[in-house]
Amino acid sequence: MKRVALGNSGLEIFPLVFGTLPMGPLQANLSPKEGGAVIRQALEAGVTMLDTAELYGTYGHVRAGLEGWTGPVAIASKTHAPDAAGARAHVERALREMGRERIDVVHMHGARVERPFIDRVDVFAELFKMKDEGKIAHVGMSSHFVPAVLEAASHPEIEVLHPLINRAGMGVLGGTRDGMLDAISACSASGKGIYAMKALGGGNFINAARASIGWVLSHPFIHAVAIGMLSGDEARANVRLFEEGVADDATWKPLEARRRRLRIMQQFCKGCGDCVPACASRALSVVEGKAEVDEGVCVLCGYCAEACPEFIIRVV
Ligand code: SF4
Ligand code: SF4
Repeated sequence: MKRVALGNSGLEIFPLVFGTLPMGPLQANLSPKEGGAVIRQALEAGVTMLDTAELYGTYGHVRAGLEGWTGPVAIASKTHAPDAAGARAHVERALREMGRERIDVVHMHGARVERPFIDRVDVFAELFKMKDEGKIAHVGMSSHFVPAVLEAASHPEIEVLHPLINRAGMGVLGGTRDGMLDAISACSASGKGIYAMKALGGGNFINAARASIGWVLSHPFIHAVAIGMLSGDEARANVRLFEEGVADDATWKPLEARRRRLRIMQQFCKGCGDCVPACASRALSVVEGKAEVDEGVCVLCGYCAEACPEFIIRVV
């Protein structure tokens, strides 16, 4: 099957990366057993890299999917900790809960961090220390911010980048879609491995999934794309698309007919506003004591769900 080099990291992967966010408690809330079964089917179909994060709550799903698996697999996780001690605790938890001795890539989870090289300098330092200790193979950064991605190009110690990009530029912060493409291209030229996120706008472009994935893949400096998947059929369809360019209507029409949205159970909303700053896309506001979402800019990441003390937000 196809293999792509993730920049100069030495990692060689199938270009479809399994994104585990949608199966976790922030979204579809599959059990570890159910999610693990989907992950296992994707691995059997040819996927070789899994993307998770402390925030996603899917370490149990990854562990279940890898139980007894002897084929090739790389795991990327992320820490959103604001300080060194928190980052270390997140990596230790990832190692423990996924049953690994080393995590292949650990990103500074920078979705909402505008100035990562100033505000997360201690986190990066701790991740490099853990790399020296052998607990991390490569340090990376995920980001929705154009200036942050551009700045990463001049940081050789960041080996893998996980930037937000899609054909509508939905969710891109601090610049335009084309500005993000230029920043990603600069990172690729400096030897970083690039795997993109939100090619489907978190599900907003699911009705044009083939075209949306194709647009991201048409940029040769983007080496791979992470896609969230919730069934074995979806995983196999995506593998065929990435491997052979096969995207037949019989398989894809039902997949593209799905619709996802952010659900806020407003009857239980206290209007506290805790969810508002959790949204880097600035899609949330409190109007007359109830949280509201601007569906035009919401990328369905589900991060606001974690911030709500009432547990009343869910991507469905
Ligand atoms: S409203 Fe919630 S799901 Fe939508 S972009 Fe903001 S944090 Fe993500
Ligand atoms: S955090 Fe939850 S309870 Fe508070 S405003 Fe947002 S949705 Fe409502």
